[in-house]
Amino acid sequence: MIFDFWMYLWHRLNHRFPPLWRLHRVHHIDPEMDATTAVRFHPLEVALGALARVGVFVLVGIGGVQGLVYALVFHPVIIFHHSNIALPEKWDRRLRVLIVTPNMHRVHHSVERAETDSNYGSVFSFWDRLVRTFRKRRDTRTITFGIPEFRGRRWNRLGGMLLNPFKGASR
Ligand SMILES: [Zn+2]
Ligand SMILES: [Zn+2]
Repeated sequence: MIFDFWMYLWHRLNHRFPPLWRLHRVHHIDPEMDATTAVRFHPLEVALGALARVGVFVLVGIGGVQGLVYALVFHPVIIFHHSNIALPEKWDRRLRVLIVTPNMHRVHHSVERAETDSNYGSVFSFWDRLVRTFRKRRDTRTITFGIPEFRGRRWNRLGGMLLNPFKGASR
């Protein structure tokens, strides 16, 4: 749980600190959110995140087995909340008492900045409620995904995604 709170803080830092946002926005430019969005991260963000994680593992004293257990929970949950399955709202609401659900994370991928800067949770949904960054939308089907300045096809090709952090403005 401590590690999942770290993931919340790290994700939030990625939105607040402009150099980190340049890398993290590659995850946000996807105009059609689905399970593949869950693995769409810039390699530099993955490397930096892994480095920071090693420090937290040592600091908190998280062992290999605990790390493995977290990974086994983390990956199915992030693939699930990025997926485009039409989960009925009442089931989404029940599940998001504990975990981050598709409707909760879809708000995070909205083109509207206020919505993008909310719902930072990875596995557990309660961090956002506790720190007051939780946001919901009545109908998530009306959300437009992506970042307006990077909507063109070239930004969604491999080369465009790899070069994206070095182009355009920070925010
Ligand atoms: Zn984000
Ligand atoms: Zn996401």
